[in-house]
Amino acid sequence: MDRLMRIAFLSEHASPVALLGGADAGGQNVYVDEVSRNLARRGYAVDVFTRRDSSDAPEIIDWAPGVRVVNLKAGPPKPRPKDELWPFMSQFRDSFLRFMVRDEARYDLLHGNFWMSGWVVTELRQRLDIPAVQIFHATGKTKRRHQKKVDTSPGDRIKTELRIVRNVDRLIAQCPAEQAELINDYEADPAKVVVIPSAVNTQVFKPVSQAEARKRLGLEQEGRIIVYVGRMLPRKDIRNIVRALALLAQQEEKGTDSTLPQATLMVVGGETVEPDPEATPEIGELQRLAAELGVSERVRFIGKRQANELRYYYCAGDVAVTTPWYEPFGLTPLEGMACGRAVIGSAVGGITYTIKDGETGLLVPPRNPEALAASLRELLSQPERCKQMGQAARKRVEREFTWSIVAMRTAALYETVLAERRHESLPVDTTPLSIVSLPKVPESNP
Ligand code: UDP
Repeated sequence: MDRLMRIAFLSEHASPVALLGGADAGGQNVYVDEVSRNLARRGYAVDVFTRRDSSDAPEIIDWAPGVRVVNLKAGPPKPRPKDELWPFMSQFRDSFLRFMVRDEARYDLLHGNFWMSGWVVTELRQRLDIPAVQIFHATGKTKRRHQKKVDTSPGDRIKTELRIVRNVDRLIAQCPAEQAELINDYEADPAKVVVIPSAVNTQVFKPVSQAEARKRLGLEQEGRIIVYVGRMLPRKDIRNIVRALALLAQQEEKGTDSTLPQATLMVVGGETVEPDPEATPEIGELQRLAAELGVSERVRFIGKRQANELRYYYCAGDVAVTTPWYEPFGLTPLEGMACGRAVIGSAVGGITYTIKDGETGLLVPPRNPEALAASLRELLSQPERCKQMGQAARKRVEREFTWSIVAMRTAALYETVLAERRHESLPVDTTPLSIVSLPKVPESNP
C-alpha cells in the first residue's frame, strides 16, 4: 500500500459499541467490530458508520487504534427495532455525505453490512464513484422462506437486495451455502461472489477446565450441562432443545438407559442481564414449554452476558447446542468450539460448514427433537469422546476461523477491487476534499 487506505464500513443497526445478546445485537455487531479492528492492524483506517440510537451517544468514538465509530443521524436518537429503520435510510445516506464534506473525509472503498446499509452503499457508489463490497449477514428470501407470515421485514427488502447484488463490485458470502443462495436465488454473477467465512476471537474464547468454570459461576460440579448461547428468538428454536431435554428426562425416568447421567440446560441470552420473560418474551415461551413438559427444574435461564464472561458458560457445559431453523453463518458454534467443547448444531447454512460432523461435534436435522435427543444421549454418555471432539474443535478453529484470517482475505479482496478500478482507469476519487460537493438528494424516503 502506498498510502493509508480508508474504508467506510456501513452498518446501520449493528454497532460494535452495542451490548450483545438482545434481539437486534448479535453476530453482525461482532463481525463489524472484529473485522474493522483486524483491518486496522493491517494498516487500513476504518470508519464504522452506524445509526445514532441515543441522544447521549457522541458523534465520533475513537473505538480502537485505527477504528472510529461514527454515529449518524437517521431517525429519532433512540432504540428502534431494525425492521423499522428502512424509512430512515435516505437520511442515513445524507448524514454520511454531510459528514464526509464537513470532516473532509475521503474513502477508497465502501463496505456495506446488511441490506439497508447495502442500499446506502449502492447510492454512494454511484454518486461518489467509490467501489463497494457488500456482505448481507442474512437475506430476505431465506428469512421469508422460514419465517413466512411472522417475517417483519419491510416489503421492499428482497427487491432492494436484488438491486444491491447487481450494483456492487463484490459480494462476500460467509459460507458455500450463502454463495449458492446469492447465485441461485439472487442471480448474482458467480465471479462477483467471494467466500470469506467469519471467525471467532481465540484469545477471548479459549478453554478453561469445567471444574473451574462451574466454580466461578457458582454451579454444582455434578451432572451434565447442555449450553445454549445466543439471541432468544423463535427461529433459533431453543424450544427444540427443551423438547429434546424432556425426551432425555423421560428415558431417565423409565430407566431405559442406565448410562445416561442427569442433564440440565443452561440458556444464555436475552434483553436483560437478569432473565426477564417480560423483556424477552421468548424466555416466557420457553418457561411455559418446560413446565408443560415437566422439565422446569432442569432449565436455567441466565440472561445476557458479554464476551469476556461467555467462555465460562461454554466451558461449564459438557456440550454446546444450537439448532436454528436456518443460520446464515452462526458464530456461537465457533465460540463453543474455540472453548474446546463439542457442539451439536442443526445441519443448516454456515453450521454445516463450521462443525465437522463426527469430529468436532454432531449435525442434526432442524425441528427434530428426537434426533437431537439421540445425539445428546450419544455425547453425554461418552465423556471421553466429547473431550476429544472438543480438542479437535479448538484445533480446527485455530487453523481456519480466526479474525486475522478474515481480515487478510478481506484485505486481499479490497486490493483486487481497487486494482480493477485502477486498471479500468477509473481513478479512485482524487478530487480535492474541499470541492467535494454535497450531491442533491431527494427529500422523500426510499
Ligand atoms: N451473544 C452475547 N451475549 C449473549 C448472547 C449472545 O455476546 O448473551 C453473542 C454470541 O456470543 C455471538 C453473537 O451474540 O457472538 C450471536 O451471533 P450468531 O452469529 O451466533 O447469531 P446471530 O445473532 O448473528 O443470529
